[in-house]
This record gives sequence, C-alpha cells and structure tokens, in this order.
Amino acid sequence: MDRSFSSIDVQRESNLFQEDLQQLRDSEAAVLPSQLRTSDPKWLLVDEGFTLAREHETESLFAIANGYIGNRGSLAEGSPLSAPATFVAGVFEQFDIPGAVPQLMVLPDWTGVRIWIANEPLTMQQGDVLQHRRILDFRRGILWREWRHRDPAGRITRIVAFRLASLADRHLLFHSVTLTPENHTSVIRFESSIEATDRAVSLLAPEWKARRDSARPNVLPLALRVPGRNTTVAFGLTSQMLHSARGVGRRTMRMDTGRIMEHCEVEVEAGTECHLHRSVSVFTSRDGGDPFQWSMGHLSDVVTKGTESAVWAHVSTWESRWKAADIEIEGDDSLQRALRFAVYHLISAANPDDPRVSIGARTLSGPGYKGHVFWDTETYMVPFFIFTHPRSACALLEYRYHTLDAARRKARTFGFRGAMYAWESADTGEETTPKAVIAQNGEVLKIPNGEIEVHVTADIAFATWQYWQNTGDDDFFVRYGAEIMLETARFWASRGTTENDAFYHIRHVIGPDEYHEDVDDDAYTNLMAAWNLRRGAETANLLQECWPRRWQELSAQLQLSDEEVRAWIKLADAVFVPFDPKTLLYEQFSGYFNKQPIDLRSYEPRSAAMDTILGHEQIQKTNVVKQADVILATFLLWDGISADVRVANFRYYEPRTGHGSSLSPSIHALIAAQIGDKECAQSYLKQAAEIDLGNNMGNAAGGVHAAALGGLWQAIVFGFAGFRTHLDGVSLAPKVLSHWRRLSFPLQWRGRKLRVCIEPESVHVSTAGDKPFRLRLEGGSEIVATPGEEYVADRSESGWESWRMAHLSSKGAL
Ligand code: BGC
Ligand code: BGC
Repeated sequence: MDRSFSSIDVQRESNLFQEDLQQLRDSEAAVLPSQLRTSDPKWLLVDEGFTLAREHETESLFAIANGYIGNRGSLAEGSPLSAPATFVAGVFEQFDIPGAVPQLMVLPDWTGVRIWIANEPLTMQQGDVLQHRRILDFRRGILWREWRHRDPAGRITRIVAFRLASLADRHLLFHSVTLTPENHTSVIRFESSIEATDRAVSLLAPEWKARRDSARPNVLPLALRVPGRNTTVAFGLTSQMLHSARGVGRRTMRMDTGRIMEHCEVEVEAGTECHLHRSVSVFTSRDGGDPFQWSMGHLSDVVTKGTESAVWAHVSTWESRWKAADIEIEGDDSLQRALRFAVYHLISAANPDDPRVSIGARTLSGPGYKGHVFWDTETYMVPFFIFTHPRSACALLEYRYHTLDAARRKARTFGFRGAMYAWESADTGEETTPKAVIAQNGEVLKIPNGEIEVHVTADIAFATWQYWQNTGDDDFFVRYGAEIMLETARFWASRGTTENDAFYHIRHVIGPDEYHEDVDDDAYTNLMAAWNLRRGAETANLLQECWPRRWQELSAQLQLSDEEVRAWIKLADAVFVPFDPKTLLYEQFSGYFNKQPIDLRSYEPRSAAMDTILGHEQIQKTNVVKQADVILATFLLWDGISADVRVANFRYYEPRTGHGSSLSPSIHALIAAQIGDKECAQSYLKQAAEIDLGNNMGNAAGGVHAAALGGLWQAIVFGFAGFRTHLDGVSLAPKVLSHWRRLSFPLQWRGRKLRVCIEPESVHVSTAGDKPFRLRLEGGSEIVATPGEEYVADRSESGWESWRMAHLSSKGAL
C-alpha cells in the first residue's frame, strides 16, 4: 500500500550506520545466518518455488509463534495474494455491528521489508525467480527464506532471510535479511516498516513521541487501540544495518500515526553481503503497565545485550522444549516430519506464562474461527501439554477458571445453574459463537451450537481432572480445579430432567457429531455428563477430607450443601445412556438407529464434505456422522468401557463417519491401533498427518488445525504405544506398525520423567524422578520401577515377556 506521509510526525536522517557500529562495539556481534542453519531434513518443512494459488495455505503452515504472538509466513515484500497477519493471544476486536462477534485482531505487519536495487524494486513479479524456497526449521523455531533473483536488467541478487518469535522472551520478534549482489555493484535500499491496517485506530499521542528514548533514537514506536475494547497495543522497531564496507550508508526514519518506516541505503559491491537486522518488541495493556514504555525499554535492553544472545536464547529454549516432547520415528520419514510439524505448532501455540488466554482452533497461525477457543483445546491439545509441559496445560485450564464467571452467567441466562461454558470463547469467556453463517452454497444457516453444544462443559471438567491426576498438582486443584469440577457438575444437575421413566434425560443438544442438531440423550454428552456429576461429588468429598478449610470456603461461596452433592451421584446413576447389551452398541442419540442409512463408500472418491454434498437439512435425516463421537467417548472413558464394547462401536460407527471435521481421523487411528487393526490405523494416521501438510480439508488457509495436531500426538502415544495412566503407575500396550524400526518419546507423569522406546522386538522404559511407580505392560507384566533405572521387556511368540532391569543404554537416555 502506498500511503503518503501527509502528517509526518518525525523525520530523522543520519549518515552511515555509525550508531549500529557503535552498538555492536558495545555489545556482541549480531547473529549471522550461516551459524543458525539446521541441515537435517527431518527437522525441516520446505516449500520449493512459489505457487501463488497456494500462498494462503503456505502462510499458515509456515507461521511462527510463541503463544504470545503469532505471525503468518508471508513474503516480506508482499505478493498479489499475500495476507500477512500478526496476532497477539487474547487481543480480540469487536465491532458494533448487529451479529458481530469478537475476532482475533490482525495487528500491523511487522515483517515488511521492501528492497530496491539501483532504484528498481525487487519483486518476484518482475524478472526471473532463479530459486525460491521457504524453510521452516522446527528444531529452532525459525522461518527461513532463500531467494535468488535476476531482475529485468540482468542483475542477480541473493537474499537469505530469517525470522522468529522468541520462545525465550515472548515479546521479542526478530527478522534478519542478508543481501548479496552476485554480479553487480549497486546502491541497495531497504524499506523496513510496520504498518497498521486501516481498521486499527492509531494512537501515537504527542506525549508518547516526547517520551521516546532519546538515548536510542533508532527505536521507532507505533501504538494502536483495539476496536471495541479498552486495549492498547504498542510496537517498537529498531534496525541495525551491517555492511562489510563499513561506512557508506544513509538512514532515514519516518513516523506517522499509522506507520513507522526506515530507509537504509548503501552501496554494496558484487559478492559482498549486507545485513539488515530488525528487532521488534510488542506489549499490550493486557500485560499490565504502559505498553509503550515497556516496548521501548525492552528494545533498548535487547540491543544493549546484543541481538545475538537474544537469538541464541530462543534457540536453546526450543531445544529444551524438544527434549521434553520430540517423538522420534525411525522407518517413516514423512510421519516423522508430520509429528514434528504437529509438536512445533503446539508448542508455538501455548503461553505457559499467561493464564488468561487459551489456544484458538487455528492457533495464532490464521484467522479461522476468528481465533475462538473450542473444546478442541481441552480434548485434543491439553493431553499433549499435560505429558510434555504441564505448566502450559495448567495455564490453559486456568483460563477456564478465569472465565468461570462468564460460564455462570451463561448458565443463568439459559435458566440453569453452575457453569455452562461457551461453545466458542474469546477473551472474556462469554459465548462468541456466531448466531448464523453463510454456507458454501450461499444459504444463511442458523448456528444453534452456542446454545446447545453443551458437551464442552464436561470436556473442560474432564481435562481439569486429567491434569490434576497426571501431574499431582494439588495446589492447582485446590485453588482452581475444584471449583471448575463443582460448578460444572452443578450445571449437569440442572441441564436435564428426571422423567416418568425415572431416568435423567438431557434433551435438545448437539453432540460432537454436528451433522445432527437438537437431539435427545446424546450418548457422548450423557456419558460425559454422568462422569462429570460423579467427579463433582468426588471433588466435594476429597475437599472435605483433605482440604477442609478450602471446602468450608468454597461450599459457603457456592452455597453448596452435602445434600446437593449426594444428589449428583443419584443423577449420575440415573442418566439415560442408550446402550444395547445384545449388540454392545451405544445409540448415538435417541432415534439415531432409525435414520436413513447412507453408504458412504458409494460417494468415494469424494472431495467435499458430506454436509456440502447432501445439504444441511438432508444430512440431519441420514445416519452420516460428522466426526469421532461415540468412539471418542469409548476412548476418553476407557477404564469404564470394556474392550468388546470399544470394538463393537468402532466397527459400527467407523463406516458411517464422514470425517467432516479435522478432529476425526486421529481418534479413529488411535482406536484402530488399539483394537489391532493395523491397516485401518495406518490409513487414518496418514489422513490425520496430512490435514494441514496435504491441506486435505481444503481450508488450511485459515490457519493450522490445532486439534488435529494434538490428535496426531495422542494417536501415537495413546494409540500406537498404548500409553495409559493409573493411580499408582503407567502402562503400555504397544501396537506399532511393522515398518517402524523404532518409536521413542519422552513423557512426564506425576513428577517423574519417562522415556519410552518401542522396537519390533522390545520395549524400553527409562525413568527419572524421586518416587517409584508401577510399570505395566499389556499381557500382565508389572514391575515397581525405580527412578534412575531402565526397564526392558522382550517380545516372544506369545506376547511380551516380563520386565527386567536393563543396563542403562542410550536407547532410554533421558
Ligand atoms: C462449526 C461449529 C461452529 C460454527 C460457527 C461450524 O463450522 O462446526 O462448531 O460453532 O462453525 O463458528
Ligand atoms: C468441529 C468441532 C470443532 C470445530 C473447531 C468443527 O468443524 O465439528 O468439533 O470444535 O470445528 O475446530
């Protein structure tokens, strides 16, 4: 966008890059690309060439983020289809238009760098692209771009650029561009900018200008107010320009209310490099304090300490996160890459230091679902964090604690009690599901999910309990978790009715299968509601027994009596769960078995979702299931459901499921693996792995599908390795695919660290921590595992042999 600087607030010129050189003398040298590269292709996602039509999808896949801020992998100079976007978790804008819901705000594009060679703009559209690739380095959390270009005048220029959102210092973004004129000596001009979108209200107040750091005149500020919210966002930008000739250059800086911009001009000789290093700091008023002051001070610190140390701190933080989360698979390189892609985006999505935000369905990698938080977080992503980075899981659940009041208000509005969580949630926890959407065929569809897709409330309670059980974090449970458990149980006790048949019926709901709206006695919802009622009562009893003071406080605050708690158990026993003991099938909801049968195979090969093919009205009349539903319940409630029931329901529902949601294939892979159907498991695993990488839902442009990524992790750990936890220990039931030579991953469980390594003929588990625990293996072998030891079991013809202590080997190194 070309916008004239009609209201130039500041214009400053300086010769040369003396200040940069001085800064460098004062601190360490700036980091150079050659030191940072990762060469192992299993850690890299590479996009070779440039396909304009795929640009939006590429931008999502190559996004960088650190849970606080996210940035799509757009080209720095833009292209006709570029949609650069930066998001900050929790920064939602809300327009005063009927029906509008809050949406994650697209913040100014801080990656903008345009280049001129002898006054001619360097763009991919003019001249020949000799080479172009984007590389996402999962290991280091760095997005690279390599571009060799011959311009219409025959000049060949090479650009190597990288950018990152620091995982070590979440407010810091870093962008480096190295330019080499290969066959020419030219005056090169960089235009480095941060530009607000027209929608944003710019806020560069005069006193802020005056408060700029006089010691660091190179730090440029930009501040905005978020529409519809009392939130301010401040950006600071500072650049360093380094060139081997040291001394020839000119810098111009400009600021107006909506943009900050810096021009650097230098003559560069053929074959020599020049570097532009840009550091950006972002703070918002949600962080507390004055964001403007914070971002200015922060940048000043970063420059003083040296950008090199900031970059290496980011790299080493990623290293330690990978150490606790990397799944290694030998024998399947594309699955290996897909798993690292998944773990990379999951780590990038969470902020363990901010308990007031959660992860949207499409993370910070795209605008899909307006950045809203669904049950996707608790059911699909939280398990990954519980077992690899409990602090992140804790922050995600604390977000639900902080939104309890909104959930209580929602319950009251609908005439219920306790906490009724939002189906879609944003910054305040209020319901943000749009009331209507325009379908692909132009039809306006009412969206009842915000009112009746109530299973989310039980899903949040379920994740809360899992977190507590698997970490032993009593402090969290007593302070936050218990209140969630009690208030959600109370909701379920008010949501249904005990009818004449003496059963407790929960009517007018939508289950995970959203193809059937407004159904009664949905098996998934009812099973989870009964679970929630029981755990609510258990919570009350535990508090009374172990934390009586907290019980006194909470029961008074919530006006909760023993009688009310006792009623929950009775209701849990009375919840109507449609189950046929002859067929071992749960009926997905009341009347499901009478729906019109559809043979999904007759629609293959199919490139559209079944609701698009049949239409919204028609699909409700059929038995086509959108996504893992009953079978998801058989996984979540594993210990209470027998293996034959799991098999029967999988065999029944799997052929009737259309996988119209990215949440479906991973759970199918998980169950298929555990019931021993390797072919089926492999095929669903492939589907799950390709949701974003193969864009097989067709909508990766809106951001990566975070639930599918968490589901993929669960499919491997719970499905193929068969990892389960118990009160006194953990167990494994390995069902790995025959072409995998080795599957190995780290886990954390109740303060212990474990490394599991499964090979075709043996299983190794090494442990660290301070307390022994029981280690079980499918088939009955069980041992008390002592931390610091490694255990191994060999496969025999009849199954697994008993665990034995192994001499510490590198296989199990923690
Ligand atoms: C999803 C619902 C969601 C609605 C509105 C639909 O595509 O399936 O879960 O509430 O969009 O965002
Ligand atoms: C799925 C929901 C999911 C939502 C957001 C919908 O298509 O049916 O289960 O929560 O997408 O990912």
